[in-house]
Amino acid sequence: MRNRSRLSLLAAPAVLLVLAGCTPDAPSERTPHDAGAAWSYAGEGAPDHWGGLANEYGTCDAGEQQSPVDLPAPARGAQLDLTASGAVHGLTADNGHTVQFTADDGATTTIDGTALDLVQMHFHAASEHTVDGAAAAAEFHFVHADRKGELTVVGVLAEVGAHNPAYESYVAGATAGAGRASTVDVESMLPASRSFATYEGSLTTPPCSEGVRWIVLEDPIELGADQIADLEAAHVENARPVQPLGDRVIGHEL
Ligand SMILES: [Zn+2]
Repeated sequence: MRNRSRLSLLAAPAVLLVLAGCTPDAPSERTPHDAGAAWSYAGEGAPDHWGGLANEYGTCDAGEQQSPVDLPAPARGAQLDLTASGAVHGLTADNGHTVQFTADDGATTTIDGTALDLVQMHFHAASEHTVDGAAAAAEFHFVHADRKGELTVVGVLAEVGAHNPAYESYVAGATAGAGRASTVDVESMLPASRSFATYEGSLTTPPCSEGVRWIVLEDPIELGADQIADLEAAHVENARPVQPLGDRVIGHEL
């Protein structure tokens, strides 16, 4: 089952957008091939029920490498080797589960010497990954794909603090109501210190496909209270609970 879902992930790059929890033009989250499989964060479509909502969501229940997870206290190890291609243009829109920035083609982030396509970024409030059991106010996911379609997601935790100009364009999209042109500069949106935790996990939204490399930065960024409030006005409590780590190991280098 796991292999099949991974194969379909690799075979159809166009499907990546849907797999990553983004159905840009379907705010009702119902799509023709899975009519009735409306997932959400509360009630009948809540995370505990995802695996039973549709056959293709079975990995949400049966998977053994699911995300998010509780991370250990910061290890302050190696810094993440990441360079991005500067300001990236794209469209920010509410997809019914989060507010998603979808990058135009050609946006590249190089991680540990490998050039990856920046596909999209979005937020969860509160954070999905916890650190030593504690959630942050929000978490941003920068979703990347390599040439084979394999995903690397960089997670950035956020706490309430100083206003953060690097997030202005994205947050403006969260309050716009309809799709809005935005720019994202990945490097400026990361914390100054880039020590990180890394592990093999999954999408945190149905179909919960595995084979996703997670890199979660240990230090949070700060966002202004008004910026957090603007995001929460769009979506709040859109975080999947942490999943069992099982026999996986959390690493601190790539
Ligand atoms: Zn996410």
